[in-house]
Amino acid sequence: MWFRKGLRIHDNPALEHASRACGSLYPVFVIDPRYMEPDRAAFSPGSSRAGVNRIRFLLESLADLDSSLKRLGSRLLVLKGEPGEVVIRCLQEWNVGKLCFEHDTEPYYQALDRRVKNFASAAGIETFSPVSHTLFDPADVIARNGGKPPLSYQSFLKLAGKPSWEASRLSTALSSVPPVGDVGRCEIFEVPTLIELGYNETEQDEVAPFQGGETAALMRMKEALGNKAWVADFEKPKGDPSAFYKPATTVLSPYLKFGCLSSRYFYQSLQDIYKDVKKHTSPPVSLLGQLLWRDFFYTAAFGTPNFDKMKGNRICKQIPWSDDEQLLAAWREAKTGYPWIDAIMVQLHKWGWMHHLARHCVACFLTRGDLFVHWEKGRDVFERLLIDSDWAVNNGNWLWLSCSSFFYQYNRIYSPITFGKKYDPNGNYIRHFLPVLKDMPKEYIYEPWKAPMSIQTKAKCIIGRDYPNPVVSHDSASKDCRRKLAEAYAVNQRLNGMVNDEDLKSLRRKLEEDQEKELRNTKQRR
Ligand SMILES: Cc1cc2nc3c(=O)[nH]c(=O)nc-3n(C[C@H](O)[C@H](O)[C@H](O)COP(=O)(O)OP(=O)(O)OC[C@H]3O[C@@H](n4cnc5c(N)ncnc54)[C@H](O)[C@@H]3O)c2cc1C
Repeated sequence: MWFRKGLRIHDNPALEHASRACGSLYPVFVIDPRYMEPDRAAFSPGSSRAGVNRIRFLLESLADLDSSLKRLGSRLLVLKGEPGEVVIRCLQEWNVGKLCFEHDTEPYYQALDRRVKNFASAAGIETFSPVSHTLFDPADVIARNGGKPPLSYQSFLKLAGKPSWEASRLSTALSSVPPVGDVGRCEIFEVPTLIELGYNETEQDEVAPFQGGETAALMRMKEALGNKAWVADFEKPKGDPSAFYKPATTVLSPYLKFGCLSSRYFYQSLQDIYKDVKKHTSPPVSLLGQLLWRDFFYTAAFGTPNFDKMKGNRICKQIPWSDDEQLLAAWREAKTGYPWIDAIMVQLHKWGWMHHLARHCVACFLTRGDLFVHWEKGRDVFERLLIDSDWAVNNGNWLWLSCSSFFYQYNRIYSPITFGKKYDPNGNYIRHFLPVLKDMPKEYIYEPWKAPMSIQTKAKCIIGRDYPNPVVSHDSASKDCRRKLAEAYAVNQRLNGMVNDEDLKSLRRKLEEDQEKELRNTKQRR
């Protein structure tokens, strides 16, 4: 049994199948040093691929899985190396009749699994790889749509229908797991700690308040679903993005990402509640609707070549985004000068999780709202720092927020000043994540550059010295972004989406010329 995601005992068809009718079972997890070991050159603590918060979450999840397997008479065999090579070596070394692992639709796993399956089939080893990370099999939904993924949520819902397993109760417990066989010459490790991997525990002053693992996942789900009225009334996008002591949503995403929680079990548990209450919200805004968004993006991602890129991605508008490193760095390092935006980015660094609408605000700000920086750059930062970082969902939402796909109303821009204020007029969220502003009066907490010097001095925060001035003026930057998007959309329409590098270059030139003209005119008017 090869664990990758699906780090759970409940509703784990691969593990169940592997445990059935065999004398011994090898529950394996391979630690890929490239993914896990510290990279001091990276822009935040972590490896070259992942921030330390997600690595911690994964280690906690592995330790929890190991404990659960031990209770069932087994243990987790941790190996190290490039996963494909390690698994193939194990298959060569051990007398394995069957290899079981959860099906995965990410391009990385697709390539890895092809390699391992090819080896297994040549060696006469059977493989079993069921779909259990999502509610539906993306390939089925795509096949039902004539080979193309549905690109709207409603058409996805229509095509997907009810999950095939809906009527039967999912198996949520295993009574035992066969004992581990002889491991031969393979070097087996315990689940390492962060320190053992080479991290310094004091690298961060505040860490994600979410413990990894199936046990924590099930407790968290039970607690959230314990409040049936809250579940029945759940309505996104309502909910306070600035609530951080008690987030306004479930924070089950990191557990779903690593498969500590089965999305199918979550689905069934939600259905049980809906049967029990008189009235409840419906997709897309309900809690069940949120889970379906996840499947929607998995399906779109699986059926779209180059889903994670602008170029060569047929569902992505071609837009001449800027690659301004300074603006990107200001956003990434929480130094835009807009406290609402910067506080969210600090929460991302410290916790690796933010509310959905907070993600909307910073993604819009970086791309089509203010800075006009390429969505792929923002995606990379999220991909590294989020504890729930998920290839399909992250790329899908960046495509959405940058108005590159799925959503096209580029005139609707989140204000980095008034949006947060609606929910949190006193700025408690900002004061927590940006303590440099903790004494700024509430009148200025969202726009501290407007505070008179006497007030800045009293608040012990001089703008331009202790906290940056705004990197752009929102009013003019957002106007500029709208104009650029309008021009880019027109070119995409005229060329029927077939925009090449030359077209983008000349559009970029035109936008720059227009901008210079506008500047000259403004100067003359003055
Ligand atoms: C730019 C951007 C990037 C994002 N990147 C990720 C990511 O890498 N991983 C990730 O899991 N979510 C991502 N999201 C989606 C969403 O913000 C999170 O899933 C959600 O905030 C997680 O909190 P929760 O578990 O409390 O959600 P809840 O509201 O409690 O929803 C329950 C579950 O539904 C799913 N879900 C909710 N919203 C979405 C959505 N918009 N799209 C797909 N699935 C959804 C998640 O699995 C979530 O755990 C991103 C959103 C944006 C705007």
